[in-house]
Amino acid sequence: MSAEEGNLLVVIVDTNPSVKLMMKGKNVLTHCLDSVMVFSNSHLMISPLNKLAVIACHSHKSSFLFPKPQNDDSEDDRPTDGQYELFAQIDRCVKDGVKQLVLESPQETLHMESVLAGAMSMALCYIHRIEREEKSRQKLSARILVVTASGDSAAQYMNFMNVFFTAQKQNVIIDACVLDKDSGLLQQGCDITGGCYLKVTNVSALLQYLLWVFLPDAKTRKQLVQPPPVHVDYRAACFCHRELIDTGYVCSVCLSIFCAFSPICSTCQTAFKLAPIPALKPRKKKTKTGL
Ligand SMILES: [Zn+2]
Ligand SMILES: [Zn+2]
Repeated sequence: MSAEEGNLLVVIVDTNPSVKLMMKGKNVLTHCLDSVMVFSNSHLMISPLNKLAVIACHSHKSSFLFPKPQNDDSEDDRPTDGQYELFAQIDRCVKDGVKQLVLESPQETLHMESVLAGAMSMALCYIHRIEREEKSRQKLSARILVVTASGDSAAQYMNFMNVFFTAQKQNVIIDACVLDKDSGLLQQGCDITGGCYLKVTNVSALLQYLLWVFLPDAKTRKQLVQPPPVHVDYRAACFCHRELIDTGYVCSVCLSIFCAFSPICSTCQTAFKLAPIPALKPRKKKTKTGL
């Protein structure tokens, strides 16, 4: 790790209650949060210039767990057991934040998919703000780590794509640590931004994976033996049904993708002029060679 350059890490933890992960004798969410906390603390320990933000992504909204908005840090965060103040503060913020999020989530949103693209947009906005604030003081390279078990959510396809290309433009790396289920969209995001995509099948070893693959920054990763790159699923979601498709129709004006042909593009309202259907115009039998 270079000494003069700080790293800003934004961790997005998917806390969606509808995701069922199996682990013997232990609450999976608690275990994942514990692992993410240890990982976050390790990130801060590597360099005093490193910065951290943690966002929880739920089924109805995303919210910052750390740092907290300025107005509600009235509680005394001083640890009693000699723990480093910042770690104690992060611990408390994350625990309280998740508790609040779970308690206030409306019943009807319990089985909805996580608003992951929204959480990533929040992360990009936060990174942009911090980069502007720190511009004069130090160089900061930023990355986002998504820890999720939600799998693919093609309904948010456009939002995901916008986030990925914005991140690429801002030089923000997107890493993804997916548990149990693969996510083709996150694979694409990691590939576009130069991040690392890893599927963890053994949730109990989550911390080891996080420390091994995601703790080193982009420069250091080049010198390490990392897991081999995954085969990226480059399928796109159709705009009509939000399903991932292999082949489809693309509007030549706005590049919207459809799984079935339609004479008018539903996105940009372009009417396509079709070539006349040959069977209807049998004028000259001999010269007809093409369509
Ligand atoms: Zn469709
Ligand atoms: Zn169109």
